[in-house]
Amino acid sequence: MNIHEYQAKELLKTYGVPVPLGGVAYSDKQAANVAEEISGDRWVVKAQIHAGGRGKAGGVRLAHSIGEVRQAADNMLGRRLVTHQTGPGGSLVQRIWIEQASDIAKEYYLGFVIDRGSQRITMIASSEGGMDIEEVNRTHPEKVIKETVDPAIGLRDFQCRKVAAAMGLRGKLMPQAVKIMKAIYRCIRDKDALLAEINPLAVNKNDQLVALDAKITFDDNALYRQHQINEMRDFDEEDPKEVEASGHGLNYIALDGSIGCIVNGAGLAMATMDAITLHGGRPANFLDVGGGASPEKVTNACRIVLQDPNVKAILVNIFAGINRCDWIAKGLIQAMESLNITAPMVVRLAGTNVEAGRELLESSGLSFITAQNLDDAAAKAVAAAQG
Ligand code: ADP
Ligand code: MG
Repeated sequence: MNIHEYQAKELLKTYGVPVPLGGVAYSDKQAANVAEEISGDRWVVKAQIHAGGRGKAGGVRLAHSIGEVRQAADNMLGRRLVTHQTGPGGSLVQRIWIEQASDIAKEYYLGFVIDRGSQRITMIASSEGGMDIEEVNRTHPEKVIKETVDPAIGLRDFQCRKVAAAMGLRGKLMPQAVKIMKAIYRCIRDKDALLAEINPLAVNKNDQLVALDAKITFDDNALYRQHQINEMRDFDEEDPKEVEASGHGLNYIALDGSIGCIVNGAGLAMATMDAITLHGGRPANFLDVGGGASPEKVTNACRIVLQDPNVKAILVNIFAGINRCDWIAKGLIQAMESLNITAPMVVRLAGTNVEAGRELLESSGLSFITAQNLDDAAAKAVAAAQG
């Protein structure tokens, strides 16, 4: 799960990371009030969407007066902002963050990420801040500094000093950098984050380090014990089908093809998508009903898949162990009868109660296309989607 820049800044601030004084606004009038409240003579108005690259796309604006703050807010709110991370459709800007503008002397990069290779939290830093770290890694790999943290002893001061020195932070900046690094590490550990990124971490004209941007990604599997984080969730930033699916205990991932896939288990989902691709088709999604799926759950799965206008055919592929094929069949029949499904539905059932399941489908008098095995099912689904 991702949160907005302003939420990440407010959270990091509680750990002692210096951030500019700011406030969130939902309207241009509110934006003007926030600017007046935080005072100063220059402000930065920032679109809050779950994507980076806002600066280059007009989502970060410098304002020299309250009038300009209001103008910038008015230009951003209610518009879709397209950055290189949003995709061509962009993201709708519904909130903005107004903060004091900093006099930037230099921009750095500082991030922490779980490195799956070493299975440890790794600090990543660079003297080249403000741009994508992936880009720096491609063009100047020698300027990307990495330091792995041993979970048994945590992040040590000497490690922070080593990285800060390699970034070129000296004198007064060194102890500030150590404090910031340790604060971010503490935050990651406490809040079950997968990634925390400050880009840029800026040095201002007063020789102070300040986090001008912040991004934190949390582990979805830990949200059950992270209530404070869970409350920051912005459903507007997520695919509505994925949100609805998670409410029904279904795992839905949107893709861009034309065949809707209803399966049980991530492994079978992978195999199903491979089979579709092998037959020249493309999956429109990945919907995992899990184990022991009730007929209602299966009906909900069909409804969610059909919300995607790109779906031209549905492939149901169930290998029932804990599941029961007769329950799956009942759910599919309910869906066919109640949802006005026009897309052809190919069904392959195997495992527990498969005979009963097939019998239900056949005697329903509804137009299911049955398949004997995965290969057969994929071929039929691809043909149905094209036909
Ligand atoms: P994004 O990464 O989405 O482009 P950032 O928050 O990193 O957005 O902002 C882009 C650039 O705008 C920063 O690299 C920095 O140069 C400038 N900027 C952002 N916030 C401030 C601020 N408070 N004061 C001065 N400049 C800022
Ligand atoms: Mg940034």
